[in-house]
Amino acid sequence: MNTDSTTADTPTTRDVVIVGSGIAGLSAAVYAARADLEPLVLEGPEPGGQLTLTTDVENYLGFPEGIGGMELIQQGKAQAERFGAEFRHGTVDAAHLEDQPFELALASGDTIRTRALIVATGASARWVGADGEDDLMGYGLSTCATCDGAFHRGDDVLVIGGGDSAMEEALFLTKFADSVTVVHRRDELRASDIMARRAREHDAIEFRWNTELLEIHGSQGTGVTGATLVSHPDGHPTATLDDHEVDRERIDVGGIFYGVGHIPNTDFLEKTPVDLADSGHLETLEGMTTETTVDGVFGAGDVMDPDYRQAITSAGTGSMAALDAEAWLEEHTAMIELQA
Ligand code: NAP
Repeated sequence: MNTDSTTADTPTTRDVVIVGSGIAGLSAAVYAARADLEPLVLEGPEPGGQLTLTTDVENYLGFPEGIGGMELIQQGKAQAERFGAEFRHGTVDAAHLEDQPFELALASGDTIRTRALIVATGASARWVGADGEDDLMGYGLSTCATCDGAFHRGDDVLVIGGGDSAMEEALFLTKFADSVTVVHRRDELRASDIMARRAREHDAIEFRWNTELLEIHGSQGTGVTGATLVSHPDGHPTATLDDHEVDRERIDVGGIFYGVGHIPNTDFLEKTPVDLADSGHLETLEGMTTETTVDGVFGAGDVMDPDYRQAITSAGTGSMAALDAEAWLEEHTAMIELQA
């Protein structure tokens, strides 16, 4: 049960706080709310997470015609609210997890206290590292075709990457752009067969194999105007820039879209006792559990899953985290209250 006190000195202690409002956080919220834990869901800088940036989700069970990513998230939030989950905007700057109750310091300056914590902060788009990207992100350079594709009617555009995200971006961009060129650093796609086939068979999509983006040209006034690409017959050309076989080419393009994967959002856990993998992913304990190396802290979704990263598996681990948190609270609440 939440301890209701709202003064600055003794802020409310929640039973469960869920950090992140993507599909993993929402699924955790539905389960925790139905268990009467009155969860607080903190919506960070990307409310609703990655699904809000995708088009149709075709592989989420129960929607034979597919469902829009944004719609799936909106429905999930409504479902969680129906059972009493509370949503609040807030980015966690630092977490203090050494003692109970845990304390979360928000960027706003507020502190939130909780007994159990579910980390469902997902992952954010990776950048390539090309020259000019810092200046031009948002000015013709984008990590989200569904958000920015419509600005590129009649343009020639590049999509960087060889996974499902890159194929999805490329296919979506064919609605607007004159030409779409996928630039991939190897000669083999990582994307699933179905997505790779759709992109390969599309008349408006071309592929540049063994090629990487070295520099982006343009300005915030003009937007993206061109790109310098490098190629090497063995792939990964930027790793062999001194090699005489590296081909450099400057081309004119009006837009560039990154689809090169995601990085887990665990910065706020770096100084805590929670174990993180070298990749930055939250480590969970061995076996079928969402428990982390800190008692009372659970992980769900892409932040703890470097392998599956599907909407349905994120929803699955979200529900597991809430069930694990509920069982943990049942076992530990009396002890925590005695200590307090
Ligand atoms: P991903 O599978 O990790 O693919 C990232 C791609 O970007 C790879 O081809 C990688 O090249 C390339 N890459 C990474 N860093 C790069 C760099 N610095 N410069 C150039 N290229 C770079 O990531 P994702 O495509 O975002 O997919 C993540 C997960 O979400 C997957 O499980 C995927 O199936 C799922 N997903 C599914 C759908 C769908 O079914 N509709 C849509 C989107 C995502 P290498 O191949 O050489 O490593």
